Amino acid sequence: MFLSIKGLAKSFGENSVLKNIDIEISRGEVLSIIGPSGSGKTTLLRCFNGLELPDKGIIRFEDGQHLDFEGKISKQDILQLRKKSGMVFQSYNLFPHKTALENIMEGPIIVQKRNKTEVRNEAERLLEKVGLKDKLHFYPHQLSGGQQQRVGIARALAMKPELMLFDEPTSALDPELIGEVLTVMKELAQENWTMIIVTHEIQFASEISAKVLFMDAGYIVEQGTPQRVLKSPKEQRTKQFLERIL
Ligand code: ADP
Repeated sequence: MFLSIKGLAKSFGENSVLKNIDIEISRGEVLSIIGPSGSGKTTLLRCFNGLELPDKGIIRFEDGQHLDFEGKISKQDILQLRKKSGMVFQSYNLFPHKTALENIMEGPIIVQKRNKTEVRNEAERLLEKVGLKDKLHFYPHQLSGGQQQRVGIARALAMKPELMLFDEPTSALDPELIGEVLTVMKELAQENWTMIIVTHEIQFASEISAKVLFMDAGYIVEQGTPQRVLKSPKEQRTKQFLERIL
């Protein structure tokens, strides 16, 4: 198992947002998380890379890294956790005063202290991969939302993560721009990236995921293959949610 989560829980003050979450994900697998707004999807995703710290629970990776959040967690543990994943945000979060190429080069050079020429070549290759070969020197404001999000994906990939996390990557986009971002994500899935995706794109989730997980009110209501969860849900809450959005 690449990653296993056991008994994860998180509260913000009195608000218990994640309750007893168990998840397992294999290397090369795509897991999609669906559920109504406020159900805890984003918070869960942020726990995977230490942007939020759970109050309880265990995160274990196949390389032996083991975090028990009831015990003491060091800065080093969090850094190590953070290094494992690349995050793609709903709102792209690009540096506005840097070009597409510079946005991608920033992390590998500043954080990873890698060789500049090597990083530049890699950044060019990644921009080509996401279909933006001719936009290397464009600033975010000169790019469409879909193009900015593709830069966001390339930027996450440049850090060579083991796990890619996507937080509603298409929900800020105009409908006609969604497809180009989903196409890039589909290609990553075909290249066997391990991915966890929070999304409202049910059809897309169904096509690319090995597993779909439905959350409501901080609980995992059900998880399984897309066929199982999306086509023949067992739980009333899942059925109601799917009826509402499909
Ligand atoms: P979803 O992604 O499913 O919409 P979220 O994980 O964003 O759900 O939010 C789940 C709950 O946690 C909501 O009630 C939200 O208000 C609360 N929440 C999220 N982040 C914070 C925070 N930083 N501080 C306080 N409450 C938060």
